[in-house]
Amino acid sequence: MSPPAAHRVHVRDGFHWPAADAYLFDIDGTLLNCRDGVHYQAFHRAMREVLHIEPSLEGLQLHGNTDIGILRAALAREGVTGAGLDCHLPRIVELMCAEVLRNHEHLRPELCPSIRDLLVLLRERGKLLGTASGNLSPIGWLKLEKAGLKSLIAFGAFAWPHESREEIFHSGMTLARQMLSRKASVYVAGDTPADIHAAKAMGLPVIALATGIYSFSDLLACGPDACFACASDLLSLPLPPAQDFLQGECKHRPEKRSISE
Ligand SMILES: [Mg+2]
Repeated sequence: MSPPAAHRVHVRDGFHWPAADAYLFDIDGTLLNCRDGVHYQAFHRAMREVLHIEPSLEGLQLHGNTDIGILRAALAREGVTGAGLDCHLPRIVELMCAEVLRNHEHLRPELCPSIRDLLVLLRERGKLLGTASGNLSPIGWLKLEKAGLKSLIAFGAFAWPHESREEIFHSGMTLARQMLSRKASVYVAGDTPADIHAAKAMGLPVIALATGIYSFSDLLACGPDACFACASDLLSLPLPPAQDFLQGECKHRPEKRSISE
């Protein structure tokens, strides 16, 4: 039996989820889940080939992290840090991408519930859709392509050269505003506390979807503007008329804070 609506749906007073001009969707845990190990194995293969060591990813914060953040954390435990790592990162990144491309036929992305319906609805209502993901760019696009979502996503911001989720969201916001207008409103959709914290740090409203490893209550505790057990629950809300999607005015415009590039 499904949990009651109060444990599946939360929308902050005054927050109008369809009001943004553009939406930045995280990939893993938000749009899809990949349990095939292709991406995971690429970390090991690249580090082994470049540094001739086999760092473990066990116990590291993977969900909500970025690929570069995961590499740094794994290699720090092996004593590889700072300039000693920076000089190898470009080659490790190159090999990771090549490894996932080589094994792309084994990628098995599972779409999160109703997420395609949500993307299609937003596109039909004239919204610009982008992705803002901690994946390396070619890996993120391969997952989206394999999941059948690539054609719905107009642009992407990824790890490398960005490292933090804040930098990635800033890049995504900048890209969206370059494509629309300087004042375009941008919302983030993510599945982790890291997404919520980074979006809030950047002054971007954030919609949390508990379709990754974090529960609805875990995410709600981080104070997102809206929180749903999954996109099905978001789509179960009464939809405003189509013209409200196009002319919606976001009542909540937090002061924006920027970070240095
Ligand atoms: Mg995620």
